[in-house]
Amino acid sequence: MSVFSNPAFDHHEKVAFAADKATGLRAIIAIHDRRLGPGVGGCRMFPYASDEEALYDVLRLSRGMTYKSALAGLPFGGGKSVIIGNPHEDKTPELLHAMGEFIDSLGGLYVAAEDSGVGEDDVRRIAERTPHVSGFASGDAHGGDPSPTTAYGVYLGIRTAVQYRLGADSMGGLRVAIQGLGNVGFHLAGLLVADGAIVYGADVNEANLRRAQDVHGVQVVATDDILTLETDVVAPCAMGAVLNHETIDGLRAGIVAGAANNQLADEQQADHLWDRGILYCPDFLINAGGIIDVYHQRIGSDKAVMREHVDRIESNLQEILFRSDRAGRSPHLVAEELAEEYLAAAASTEPSRLAAY
Ligand code: NAD
Repeated sequence: MSVFSNPAFDHHEKVAFAADKATGLRAIIAIHDRRLGPGVGGCRMFPYASDEEALYDVLRLSRGMTYKSALAGLPFGGGKSVIIGNPHEDKTPELLHAMGEFIDSLGGLYVAAEDSGVGEDDVRRIAERTPHVSGFASGDAHGGDPSPTTAYGVYLGIRTAVQYRLGADSMGGLRVAIQGLGNVGFHLAGLLVADGAIVYGADVNEANLRRAQDVHGVQVVATDDILTLETDVVAPCAMGAVLNHETIDGLRAGIVAGAANNQLADEQQADHLWDRGILYCPDFLINAGGIIDVYHQRIGSDKAVMREHVDRIESNLQEILFRSDRAGRSPHLVAEELAEEYLAAAASTEPSRLAAY
């Protein structure tokens, strides 16, 4: 398996592999950039079709974390880990302990949290083997699964985009299509419905679909139709790479704003969305609520302080949208450039590569 010539390799600082025969663990940790602090990002468990696919995912995801934390003003670098396996069949306490030992072996260069397939209880298991993990309740003023905070940040992103593009001050009567009603999509639906939106949703998981329907009155749509539904906003909240050449051609909403990491199948799709006149809110900007929550859990802030930090997603997005219009370039590319500026400035002013927090 080639690392350095992988299309997602972007001068990552460290890529570590672990295999544990006793527990069946096969995992990769990627640390992209530590100019702002240790590599922080979720641990994902997924039945990847190949080792190459897992490597590609962890390389892309860790790069996204670098930009996410930089734009959110966090003293974190970009990191991510993936466990190759089916979370419903292969996840055992022993495997999670082995993952904890793997994370611990990096001595804090990487700090883990929840991600798809790895929930709060799993993170607690991992924490039995390493202190370098966050995102579980431990008697703090606040703590636990950061997904509701991620949903809140995405909601702010949608509100900001709707105001910018449509001049609307609330979601009243606007239609939003959510792909994926899991931890984030479910909470996002609740926030949007409370603000008067008409929310459509699709999910391959029947139980998650019914929960959103029963609790928030989400109108169920077939999974194949959700992205092309005629709505004001499409919110991808399931998996990455859903915005490719074909799906973008089929979009009928004027705004795309969701939680999923790496929604663009490749960087060219940012221009494709721009050329089609679709306002795309960079995923790594508006889904930063979770990592902001994790940061404030780590430093012991109270919830109000954490919320105030998440609220800045609104002004950050406004700034990116203004810059994008001024420059005539997609918000995604403009956001990446701004993150690079912050990283370069941080590297030249303070020796924070090994910063502890
Ligand atoms: P989740 O696993 O709880 O939910 C994802 C949902 O998408 C599940 O209900 C799943 O059944 C559904 N799904 C999968 N494939 C689908 C398809 N083809 N069509 C429709 N639905 C489908 O994950 P989550 O924590 O809600 O996160 C959602 C996305 O947001 C992920 O991409 C994640 O990486 C990203 N994200 C999450 C957080 C967080 O705090 N949880 C933070 C940042 C980014």
